[in-house]
Amino acid sequence: MLIKKLRQDVLEAAHALRTYGLVWMAGGTICARDPESGLIAVTPSGMDYSDLSPEDMTVVDLDMKVVEGRYRPSVATNLWTAILRTRPELHAVVHSHSPYATAFSVIDQPVPIVTETQANWFGQPIQVARYAHLEDDHFISAPVDALGDGYAVLLGQHGPITVGETLHHAMERAVTLEEAAKTCFIARGLGDPLVFTPEQAQRSFDYYHNRYGQR
Ligand SMILES: [Zn+2]
Repeated sequence: MLIKKLRQDVLEAAHALRTYGLVWMAGGTICARDPESGLIAVTPSGMDYSDLSPEDMTVVDLDMKVVEGRYRPSVATNLWTAILRTRPELHAVVHSHSPYATAFSVIDQPVPIVTETQANWFGQPIQVARYAHLEDDHFISAPVDALGDGYAVLLGQHGPITVGETLHHAMERAVTLEEAAKTCFIARGLGDPLVFTPEQAQRSFDYYHNRYGQR
C-alpha cells in the first residue's frame, strides 16, 4: 500500500473532525500530501468514515489522477489539489462544516482576530470566498484568491477550509477557528469585541512560529 502512514493519519484526522464536533455524517474532507513522493491521500466521497480503513483513503497525484484506492476521491478534489499547487509549502487541507465559523460565511463577514490563540495560528482575519456551486467557474478561483497567503478561508454559505505545513497544523487550525468564531459570537452578545490590529496579529503569529515551544 502506498503512503500507508499518511493514509492512517488522514483517517484518524477524519475521525477527529467528528470528535471535535466539526462535521457529522459523511461531511468534511481531509487531504494530505506526502512531501517526498508528492502523492496525496484524500478521504473518499460521501462515505461514513467510521466504516473505513486506511486503504480506503484514495491516493491521487497533483493532477487528480487516482493512483491507488477503490473509492472516488472527495468531489472537491480539484479545489484541494489547486490549493496544494498554489501553496507548495503546505501539505494538508482540512474542510469542515463547523457551525460557528460557517455562520460567518452565511452573513458574508470575515472572522476577525479576537483571541491570542487565533492570532498565533492565523495572523490575519479569515476571509469569506464568494458562494460557488461545484460546477461554477469560480469554484476554485474564489476560495484560492480569498485564502491568499493565509491559513484559512470560509467557503461562502458552506464551511471552513484550514491549511497547514502538516496535517496536525491544519487540524489545530480547524479547531482553533471554530473556537474563535464561537468566542466572537459570545462576545458580541456581551458588547463590542476588541479586535487585534494587523500589527498585533502579525506579531503574535511571528512570535508563535519562530520562538514558541521546544527547540
Ligand atoms: Zn463541505
